[in-house]
Amino acid sequence: MIKNDLENIQLANQNNCSSFDLKSLSNYKYYLTFDVDWAPDFCVSNILDKLKNANIKATFFVTHASDIIADIINQGHNVGLHPNFLPNSSQGKCLVEIMDYLFKISPNSTILRTHCLIQSTPLLYDIFNKYQQLKFDFSLLMYKFPLVKAFEWNYDGSNLIRINYNWEDDFAFYDTDFIWERPKFYSDITVFDFHPIHVALNSRDNKKYNLLKREIFGKPLWKATENQLKKFESNEKGTRDFLDAIIESDATPIEFSELL
Ligand SMILES: [Zn+2]
Repeated sequence: MIKNDLENIQLANQNNCSSFDLKSLSNYKYYLTFDVDWAPDFCVSNILDKLKNANIKATFFVTHASDIIADIINQGHNVGLHPNFLPNSSQGKCLVEIMDYLFKISPNSTILRTHCLIQSTPLLYDIFNKYQQLKFDFSLLMYKFPLVKAFEWNYDGSNLIRINYNWEDDFAFYDTDFIWERPKFYSDITVFDFHPIHVALNSRDNKKYNLLKREIFGKPLWKATENQLKKFESNEKGTRDFLDAIIESDATPIEFSELL
C-alpha cells in the first residue's frame, strides 16, 4: 500500500495534478468525522439523518452536554471527546476539570481530538496517562496528504494509537481552487472532518459564521435557532454540498475499525 502511495505521489508530481484523479472513485474508501464544536442539536440531527439514509457510521467529537449524544450512540456512531484547552474554556479551568467534564457527558469514549488541534508531547502524555480508557488520538490534520495510517505513540509508559486525517472543511475555506460540488478523495482511505455548523450554513468561508456569532453574541452557539441559522446560510456551493457529494459518490464508507 505504501509503495502504491509513493508511486501515486510521483505520478502526481509528473502530471502536476492530484495523484488520485487517476483512479475511479469506486476504488476509494473514506471515513467521516465531525467536530460538534457547540453546534445546536438540530445541526447534528440533520447529519445523523443523512448518515442513517446512507448507512454510514462516523465519529462525532463532542464538546458539551446534550441529548443528541444519546442519539449519536443509539445510531451506532462513535462518540469521541473534543477538549478545549484554549484560555477561558467553557469545559473547565484545567486539564482534569476539562477531561472530567467530557467523560461525564460521554463516559465510554476511547477517542480524542483536541479543539483547534492543540497538542504537545507533555499534553498527550498527561491525558493518555491519566485517562487510560482513551486509546486513540485523531488530532493530527495533514490536509490533502496522500496517506492516512494509524501508528503507535509510546512515551514514558503512555501508549496510544494516533491516526492522521487529511481533509477539514475550514481548511478548504482557504483552498482557493476547492470545488465544493464534486466528491474528492486524497488517498486510498480519506478521513474527512466536518463541523455541523458549517454543514448547516453550507459555509465556503468563515464570513457568515462570524456574522452569526455576532448576532448571538453572549449566548452559546448551541442556543442559536434554526431561523437565525437560515439568515446566515450560504447561497453558494459549500460544505453541505461537499458532504452530500461524498456520500452520494461511488466511494466506500468504512467503519472506524478498518482504519486500524
Ligand atoms: Zn473544534
